This record gives sequence, C-alpha cells and structure tokens, in this order.
Amino acid sequence: MTAPSDPTIDVAGRIAAVRARIALAAESAGRSRANVLLIAVTKTHAPEVAQRAVDAGVADLGENRVQELLAKRPLVDGARWHLVGHLQRNKVRDVVGRQILVHSVDRRSLVDALSGRAEREGVTQRILVQVNVGDDPAKSGCHLDETGDLVAYARERPNLAVEGLMTMPPLPPDGVDPVDAAQPLFAALRRQRDELRERFPEVVHLSMGMTNDLEAAVAEGATMVRLGTALFGERGAEPWRKDDG
Ligand SMILES: *Cc1c(COP(=O)(O)O)cnc(C)c1O
Repeated sequence: MTAPSDPTIDVAGRIAAVRARIALAAESAGRSRANVLLIAVTKTHAPEVAQRAVDAGVADLGENRVQELLAKRPLVDGARWHLVGHLQRNKVRDVVGRQILVHSVDRRSLVDALSGRAEREGVTQRILVQVNVGDDPAKSGCHLDETGDLVAYARERPNLAVEGLMTMPPLPPDGVDPVDAAQPLFAALRRQRDELRERFPEVVHLSMGMTNDLEAAVAEGATMVRLGTALFGERGAEPWRKDDG
C-alpha cells in the first residue's frame, strides 16, 4: 500500500523555508537566487499535494517514474514536468512530445531512442546528461570521463537539445555531513559543464542538490535543485497510483 501523504503538511511554509535556504546559499556564493530553479520532486505523493506546491508558486515538478508522472499529470494544473529518474528505452515513446525535460540521459542507446522518436514526432526533446560523479554502483549516470563524448554525441543527433548536466551524489558515509561530502563532487560536475560550455554554449544547466546537500549545490553553481523531503516530508516506499485516489 502507498503511504498517504500527510494532508496537514504545510507545503507553502516549507516552500518558503526552502526558498530561504536557497537565497542564503546563493548570497554566500555571490550568486542571484533567481538563477536557481526550484523543482519540487513529487514522487510517491498524491496529486493534491503536488497541486499545493504549484499553487504556492513552484510550477516545476519532478518525478522519477514515467508511469507515475503520466498518471499524476492530468490531475495537476499549471505544472511543468521533469523526469529525474532512470529512463528505459521502452518508455521513450511515453515521454517524447509531452514537454518533459529529461534529466537522466546516460547512454548512447537512450540518446538514439529519444532522438529517433523526437524526429518521427517532429519535436525537439530537451535533455540533460546524467553523470555518476561519485562512481556510485547504486546510481545511474555516465562516468565523468565519458561526459564530453556523450554530450558531443547527443548534440549531433537530430531533434535533441542538450541543455546541461545532472547528478546525484552517493549517500554519505555515516557521520559525514552530506554538504561536505557532496561539495567536491558538485564542483567536479561544474568544471565539466564549464569545459563543455566553451565548446557548446547551450550546455548551461547544472541539475544538482537535494534536501540534504542543497547548500553545496547552490555554492557550486546549481541552476536547478530537486527537492522532495524538505517540501513534502518523508516518502512512502511505493509510487502513487491513480487508484490510490
Ligand atoms: C527523490 C529524488 C530527489 C529528491 O530527494 P530529497 O532528498 O527527498 O530531496 C531528487 N532527485 C532525484 C533524482 C530523486 O529521485
């Protein structure tokens, strides 16, 4: 059974608190908070909860499963959608043409499938390349050393727009501050983006930073942060499904 989202949760208040964290981190880094897009990760949460985030001014919503995104989307008004989780090739047809920014492109076969589908539909698919900066066996993403090749490859394929890089650092070891653990990894992704941007000016975005490591990500130049727990509380283990109401 899906754990129901806490109906009393103060989403607007939590958004304000997260915005304050972003503002403080941006200010400390000499950046403008306006250059950090807050994406509310609504996975496992009911559409009503997602709607409250949109109504409180966070229109960008992230999901990690295609099926959950597509089931929730018609029940939420005014949102823009981001796929932040692993994408299988057989789900590509459900994603392309639906104005979803895909953050998780990590291999050539997926690039080919997205490009082929986008070409047939006559649309441009926006993507980020996911990088496994921490070499975490539990995480998707291409190796940091392969990032340049994968970005160059994807740029050459028709009907794709490669807009940046995304990463998810490994869980920090016990007792290590997640901000300290993530910062050098985020810095490495930023250097990779900076190098790529010199060759390919459209490679702009850095999608990095979650509830526990937001400050490190903003300090290292994140342009998109993906927050779930800080906004909606702990998640149940199961995805939300339509018949959960
Ligand atoms: C779940 C998820 C998040 C949000 O994580 P929190 O720690 O709850 O903020 C961000 N990015 C991805 C890819 C996720 O799957």
